[in-house]
Amino acid sequence: MFRTVTFRLTGWYVLLFTAFSVAVFILVDLRLSSDLRKRENEDLLENAMEIETACQTLDLEQLKTVFKHEAESDGITRVFYLLLSPDFEELASSDLSVWHGINFKPAELGTLSNQEVFKNLSVPGEESKVRVIYKKTSDGKIIQIGTSIEEDEELIANFHKIFGVAILLMLLSGSLLGLLITRRAMSGVERVTQTAVRIGKGDLTHRVPIENEGEEIENLASAFNDMLERIHTIVKELKEVTSNIAHDLRSPITRIRGIAETTITGNQEQEEYQAMAGMIVEECDSLVVMINTMLEIAENDSGIKEFSTDPVDMTGVARNAYELFQPVAEQKGIYLKYENPPDTLITLGDVTRLQRLVANLLDNAIKFTPAGGNVILSSSGTDTQLKISIIDSGIGIENDVLPHIFERFYRADRSRSTPGNGLGLSLARSIARAHGGEITVKSQPGKGSTFTVILPRKYLPI
Ligand code: ADP
Repeated sequence: MFRTVTFRLTGWYVLLFTAFSVAVFILVDLRLSSDLRKRENEDLLENAMEIETACQTLDLEQLKTVFKHEAESDGITRVFYLLLSPDFEELASSDLSVWHGINFKPAELGTLSNQEVFKNLSVPGEESKVRVIYKKTSDGKIIQIGTSIEEDEELIANFHKIFGVAILLMLLSGSLLGLLITRRAMSGVERVTQTAVRIGKGDLTHRVPIENEGEEIENLASAFNDMLERIHTIVKELKEVTSNIAHDLRSPITRIRGIAETTITGNQEQEEYQAMAGMIVEECDSLVVMINTMLEIAENDSGIKEFSTDPVDMTGVARNAYELFQPVAEQKGIYLKYENPPDTLITLGDVTRLQRLVANLLDNAIKFTPAGGNVILSSSGTDTQLKISIIDSGIGIENDVLPHIFERFYRADRSRSTPGNGLGLSLARSIARAHGGEITVKSQPGKGSTFTVILPRKYLPI
């Protein structure tokens, strides 16, 4: 529990809150005490000045009456008045019976200057103190007035109590509220974790529900779901590929084994052995081609291998492919036509792979077009895209087959008699996608097919 983010966040929140509250408390306390003291001093000084004026006109007896009268009107337990000689002998005073035991001349007072002096004196047997002013008159006498500060002390003590309770309540409710808020904020993360745990147990179909819980959590959930989607697709593809590989590699290996078995058991001529060895080499070569193509598709799909991003003139690529396949088409009795666009079409990428892409499509078009048919290779461009089309008048593709032709190892039944491994279109599409493009197909069974490659168009700096 102590290691959870919720606990730590709440802890920090409470800690900061406490520090802030204590700082406010100290500031208010200091301000309150100094204001109260200032007010006490002002009252005492005002009183002392009134007495000083009275001293000039009244004799000691009259002063005594004034002192008595003044003390009684404020309460003899709250104030006292004294007039002292310069060496602190009492000359006149109010009723001092309740102030018994006070040291009216504390040692640290020393000799008085003309400036008034304020002191806090303790009252023996009582907790509260008394605030006292000593003021020298013009003839050297000392006026001493004391006032109890019990009420002010009570005020401060009450303030401490109220503030203490308030802070305690605020801390308690703050901690609870902080805990609730952080728990709510972290609940999204908790759900992502729960989903991750479920997935860890093998349930790849599960997704984090995206609820209204703030942008960060929603972003986390949707990024997590996107990642899951990708992993799910990869795992699905991997399963398909594994079963395809198992199936498609088994046939050539079985054939190789068959030939090898014949060489062991049979009693053939030297030439026959050589022919059989030749067949094994051929089978092995086609296996190597298949494995290399599979690796290439995997590399293109995963995006782990860095591509070169050189400018490639796709018009040139198409023309080269046309020149390469022209003799093959001619031999098969197919009319191969190349339609040259008026301007160059540049894309960024790996020229060898792009050549492979066009060659695979052209190879298929010639392969699946009977003699007498025709194949048109053309290219065109818009501002942002370039298009290479391969149109054939061949056997076409059935509608139910069409969605599968880009899958690895897929071959329509009708094409089983033609050579191929069912990887040509998968490789072509993976190359197009790795270059930020796509391949689309339209086909009419018995009439022909059109494969269109779309790639991003770029321009050479002038
Ligand atoms: P392969 O050509 O080695 O069989 P591909 O991946 O290149 O494998 O093609 C997959 C399948 O798509 C082919 O077996 C064929 O059935 C179909 N196909 C591809 N191109 C054409 C085309 N131009 N005309 C008719 N069918 C085609």
